[in-house]
Amino acid sequence: MPALACDVIVKIVTLFLVFMVVLAMFGRLRFPGQKRLDAARCPRCGRFRLGRSRCACGTNNGGDKGG
Ligand SMILES: [Zn+2]
Repeated sequence: MPALACDVIVKIVTLFLVFMVVLAMFGRLRFPGQKRLDAARCPRCGRFRLGRSRCACGTNNGGDKGG
């Protein structure tokens, strides 16, 4: 049955495409999460901050002059 081989190849290619899409989705979901986690940390003491308020150690997010 020569037609079967062609069918198998099509199936493999389809599975591969689905696998790639799933991988891309996971990568997209993961990258921003890690960045946000890093940004939520205080650069000085390394503690996690809640919201955009300045940390307990007195360091603010940066970029804001004066105050
Ligand atoms: Zn701090």
